[in-house]
Amino acid sequence: MLTETDQKIDIKSLTLPELQQVLTDMGEKAFRAKQMYQWMHEKLAGGYEEMSNLSVALKEKCQEKFWYCSLGIVQVQESKLDGTRKYLFALRDGNVVESVWMKYKHGNSVCISSQVGCRMGCRFCASTLDGLERNLTPSEMLEQIYAITKHTGERVSNVVVMGTGEPLDNYDNLLRFLKLLTDENGLNISQRNVTVSTCGIVPEIKRLSREGLQITLALSLHASNDEKRRKLMPIANKYSIQELMEACEEYFRHTGRRITFEYSLVGGVNDTDEDAEELSRLAGKLCCHVNLIPVNPIKERDYVQSEAKRVLAFKNKLERNKINVTIRREMGRDIDGACGQLRRKHIQETKP
Ligand code: SAH
Repeated sequence: MLTETDQKIDIKSLTLPELQQVLTDMGEKAFRAKQMYQWMHEKLAGGYEEMSNLSVALKEKCQEKFWYCSLGIVQVQESKLDGTRKYLFALRDGNVVESVWMKYKHGNSVCISSQVGCRMGCRFCASTLDGLERNLTPSEMLEQIYAITKHTGERVSNVVVMGTGEPLDNYDNLLRFLKLLTDENGLNISQRNVTVSTCGIVPEIKRLSREGLQITLALSLHASNDEKRRKLMPIANKYSIQELMEACEEYFRHTGRRITFEYSLVGGVNDTDEDAEELSRLAGKLCCHVNLIPVNPIKERDYVQSEAKRVLAFKNKLERNKINVTIRREMGRDIDGACGQLRRKHIQETKP
């Protein structure tokens, strides 16, 4: 498959064998493909002009035939609390997307967006308020990581697809992105260091489980019964928790990878002792880990965080039920940390 934009081939979304094919069709030697691939995906070249071992003639042919994806940095916000950086990038059609860079003891992690906007409609999330604009190409997903690597001058070791968008709603591009990201001729990031987070599209979870990947699947659960989940997440009207659990079990069976359940605690909504008991019963049946996230309030909705002692009580209850649980350390609280906030603010400020 070739991803075409304006009839030009999106060169950064091609796998190495595909690039070999295209270049040999152009009358070039096959070894050029590997050179160019490494320039793009390993050395993170900003354009053909940096590819010092290519002839001027070939560079010109490439300009003609391909689109070379690159992102413009619109804004960088750095947290004074923990060094987390939030990037706002401009795409070539004028849309903007956001990504986050987080520094941990075990390495640097980047959280990327998979779509411009989102159509999943989760009630507490800022990314979905204006719906879906379009899917991101594999190259646009990669470029978020490449641009941040160049800007920070530091290697990225972990990637989480947890920014704006529903990755499994952009399945083919996501898969191609994962292939390129973990390719030995590119950044060569270990599949085990990549996490894809989904609101729970059951058929796509099942499909993903059969791709032979070693990535971590994170499921945004946020409620432990269907009734409550439907109030928070429209996707719950389509798939029941029972169906979701079966899909997760299938994912574990095929991949051997422990599932992460994300559970955003919303004050008075999903944070009671009974919720914790119900969640324990679900989680107890699977090889999983529960990540509790104090909800990040957005101004468009009146959801509030659970009180700190409620969060602890919730966690203790899960622990007593022998569930593996952590509370997500909040990073970048001072810099519009919640999903989609930075992009939204930018759009509102620049609207004519
Ligand atoms: N669409 C994917 C990935 C993007 S959201 C998904 O649903 O998983 C990444 C995570 O942040 C999800 O668990 C999402 O539910 C959660 N999230 C979104 N907005 C939030 C907010 N305001 N506070 C806390 N968590 C939020």
